[in-house]
Amino acid sequence: MNHIYLDNAASAPMFPEVIRTMTEIMTSAPGNPSSTHFQGRTARAKIEKARKEVAEHLGADSSEIFFTSGGTESNNTVLRDAVEQMGVARIITAPTEHSSVLNTLEYLQRTRGPEIIYLPVDHQGRIDPEELKNELGGSKQKTLVSLMHANNETGLLHPIKKIGEICRDSNALFHTDAVQTVGHLPLDLSSGLITFLSASAHKFHGPKGTGILYVRKDHPVEPMIRGGNQEKGVRAGTENVAGIAGTARALSLCADKLEEKANYIRGLRKYAIEQLGRMLPDIEIISPLNPEESLFTILNLQIPESDKSSQLLMNMDIEGISVSGGSACHSGAETVSHVITALGRAGSGRPLRISLSMMNTREDIDAAITALQKHI
Ligand code: PLP
Repeated sequence: MNHIYLDNAASAPMFPEVIRTMTEIMTSAPGNPSSTHFQGRTARAKIEKARKEVAEHLGADSSEIFFTSGGTESNNTVLRDAVEQMGVARIITAPTEHSSVLNTLEYLQRTRGPEIIYLPVDHQGRIDPEELKNELGGSKQKTLVSLMHANNETGLLHPIKKIGEICRDSNALFHTDAVQTVGHLPLDLSSGLITFLSASAHKFHGPKGTGILYVRKDHPVEPMIRGGNQEKGVRAGTENVAGIAGTARALSLCADKLEEKANYIRGLRKYAIEQLGRMLPDIEIISPLNPEESLFTILNLQIPESDKSSQLLMNMDIEGISVSGGSACHSGAETVSHVITALGRAGSGRPLRISLSMMNTREDIDAAITALQKHI
């Protein structure tokens, strides 16, 4: 059976060039990067080259880039350090953040008691920047704002430049979970508006289990994982040399003709929206339709309830179409996600997320729509 993969926001298939780079490094650089002999130095050089490459793509300094095990670890490192070491007493966030942010905040509140403020969101997940300004103006306590760049379920983009300016003007720290946008949208951290940023290689066709943490020079973080002095003391443990090199290679490949690729995927998303409107008009689109407001890789649909809808994901899978029920954590699960609930849309249908990459075609979308017609 020809399997069609439309779950790229859960994990985007690795580029063959990335696999080649990693295989070459696993063969040619077997040493521990902390060792001072030839093999160790070779492995260390691969890491530092990757760090420089990632820093250049993000408009950062190499000294501000750290490699982690993924977006989850990067988010945990910042949030825990903010409360446990930096003296942050208030965190402002939104109920639509990824569970690696929300569950960490819940843990911190239970164990350390910082004030956590959840900004209200509208039916598409937008926050009101004025509300953020008001919250920041209402207290002199040290505050961190943690708001994601693109929502992983709906694709909604938060206006991170504006949020960064508000944080700067109020002397607040700003963390953004950019796991869904790094590699897809251009990002320039040189403006200094963002204090911390999290990214994850497997969302931009790199390896699973490798992440990026950007830490602005003036706000160093303490390690969450303690041990050796790897990653300049910010993250102990022998480095995943091949994974790190694969991360940089994937980011460079994404950055090459970035706008051309983005336009191709935008075209696919537009085609999907048009075809759905024509062939399945009862399906509601949850993702914002305004391209300025939505990441082009994600399209979240609300499928009307029927006696078949509880089997929908399974039936799509049987047809060879891989999609998800919201996020990867909710793939195949019957529960409605916290994001859909926060949007006030729980109970009015079943969410289904199609997420696209360069590797998809219009034929993939046609096949998904044919399968949907059969199974809703
Ligand atoms: N943040 C967002 C927005 C995500 O979509 C994900 C993964 O789904 C993560 C964080 C976690 O990243 P990782 O899988 O690298 O731990």
